[in-house]
Amino acid sequence: VTFADLGLGSNIAEVLRNMGAEKPFPIQAASIPAVLEGRDVLGRGRTGSGKTIAFGAPLVERILKSQAGTRREIGRKPRAIILAPTRELALQIDRTVQPIARSVGLFTTQIYGGVPQARQVGALRKGVDIIIGTPGRIEDLIEQGKLDLSDVRIAVLDEADHMCELGFVEPVQRILRKTADGSQKLLFSATLDREVAALVDEFLVNPAVYEV
Ligand code: AMP
Repeated sequence: VTFADLGLGSNIAEVLRNMGAEKPFPIQAASIPAVLEGRDVLGRGRTGSGKTIAFGAPLVERILKSQAGTRREIGRKPRAIILAPTRELALQIDRTVQPIARSVGLFTTQIYGGVPQARQVGALRKGVDIIIGTPGRIEDLIEQGKLDLSDVRIAVLDEADHMCELGFVEPVQRILRKTADGSQKLLFSATLDREVAALVDEFLVNPAVYEV
């Protein structure tokens, strides 16, 4: 099986090949078709399994399909959001997702705390397609009216258990409630303890479940 066989376009398959990902890992072979179909996904996985490509590549493909024929306008609202517990993980995710997105003309931006917000707000004003960041700063920008998630049709929670341990469960809930009605949710977590289970219950509809 190749990435193209799973339903990804040739630009994306080529970027993955250039990253050294020639043949899909099992989590990727399982989840990519499910994500492309629009299903919610619950992935029980550790890092190192290839989950970033498992959610990142089909997420980009779906945004691309949904905008076919429309123009990328200045000031457009983001269509996808990827939430991570730490700035380090957000950066790591962006290093994988950004080149995939760029290969089809889409833009990512990182939104995390501990740095001035001016550059992040500037990027949002110009218009980005995919937000990758941590819950605190993302919620802060929403409250300031500088980030509008109403066009977000795909939301990813990476290391959901770690986000809950850091006390982010309520910000995550409030952020997800601000995405578009019926938005697709992809949740990855090594464990399914109480708070993660509450997120699964509230936000995932008939998810495809994969053990990594
Ligand atoms: P992740 O679990 O997403 O942090 O990925 C772990 C590492 O595996 C990263 O360095 C990826 O670039 C690499 N990787 C992901 N998928 C593949 C693949 N299909 N073939 C080879 N390497 C991969």
